[in-house]
Amino acid sequence: MRIGVPRETSAGERRVALVPESVARLRKSGLEVRVERGAGVPAYFPDEAYEAAGADLSDGPAAVLGESDVIVKVQRPSPAEGALVREGAVLISLLQPSTSADSLAALNGRRVTALALERVPRITRAQSMDILSSQATVAGYKAVLLGATHAAKLLPMLTTAAGNIPPAKAFVVGAGVAGLMAIATARRLGAVVSGYDVRAAAREQVLSLGATFIGPEPQKDAEVAGGYAREQTEEEKQKTLEALAAHVTSQDLVITTAQIPGRAAPRIITAAMVHSMRPGSVIVDMAAESGGNCELTRAGEVIDVGGVTIVGAVNIPSSIPYHASVMFSKNVLTLLQHVTKEGALTLDLEDEIVKPMCVAHAGESRA
Ligand code: NAD
Repeated sequence: MRIGVPRETSAGERRVALVPESVARLRKSGLEVRVERGAGVPAYFPDEAYEAAGADLSDGPAAVLGESDVIVKVQRPSPAEGALVREGAVLISLLQPSTSADSLAALNGRRVTALALERVPRITRAQSMDILSSQATVAGYKAVLLGATHAAKLLPMLTTAAGNIPPAKAFVVGAGVAGLMAIATARRLGAVVSGYDVRAAAREQVLSLGATFIGPEPQKDAEVAGGYAREQTEEEKQKTLEALAAHVTSQDLVITTAQIPGRAAPRIITAAMVHSMRPGSVIVDMAAESGGNCELTRAGEVIDVGGVTIVGAVNIPSSIPYHASVMFSKNVLTLLQHVTKEGALTLDLEDEIVKPMCVAHAGESRA
């Protein structure tokens, strides 16, 4: 059985789905691996490293997509790539199934079994396959560095011959995987950090990282299955806005990570809050791709609003391509080990991990 790793073609995508170390592990379990020449180069994994790990390298996508039993990718294939996939093959990648009807149609045309990596269920057994968590960890770290880069102030407290510098104040909205990483990173850089989330468990985690918790007391029913948040009621939203408005005005760095699965990101930072911030302060909106937590965010742009910089960050993990790929690859390797045995595919579409991930099979979408 052959696993195929094509080169990523989406604009700005530098990650690769399998790194050479994972290729070596798959080879040891009796699987063949074919990698498109140059696939790992944007993430600093040269072709020679794949060859040394036992991969067979090919030029161009056709020999990978058309001659592999299982194709692993980071971003969903374009319709043109989907049309090259071998009839009846398995595709494992991020698929954004709700917004990719044309890609899914191309895959269904080839009777591909498509497993969407964003649908790995949030159960303990599948934690080591959870790409959303591993990539959110990378993104939470980088968001703080982006904020620090754009900030007019230093983050740490300094006592120097040139005077004493007070620590900057950083506020993290949404304390899930990315938010907690952002809190920990901002603390390491010496900022005075506060956090907010609607879930009670997140409140405890914010406090355990040495940050203060701001905003209304989380409601017990705010957390739903899988650890996700439910949407707030209008009354709750109003209370949150009031509490946060008073706090945001004094912050040097605001990082927003709040998401509700399957919906537009909740609007938490209003235009009025932005205007209340000091010039030189920064907002890094990690929810930019799903509409933004800040009313003024523009996805993919860095804008200046009266001296406040708003970073509408998109695909942050790709900007740390090496380690984001190492973690992505480890998740994919664990999933591949779950669906293969002694060099053969043992895919069970009723399996509790595979079932929610399967968005297309035998020519039909299974959204
Ligand atoms: P996410 O990306 O969906 O959302 C990010 C954060 O935004 C969440 O903490 C959420 O509570 C918060 N949020 C939503 N609406 C908000 C609002 N109006 N104001 C403030 N915050 C708001 O979530 P995530 O980070 O991927 O995961 C959340 C939690 O799920 C984790 O902390 C963890 O407990 C759990 N989880 C479990 C597993 C597993 O068991 N395999 C894996 C990953 C995560």
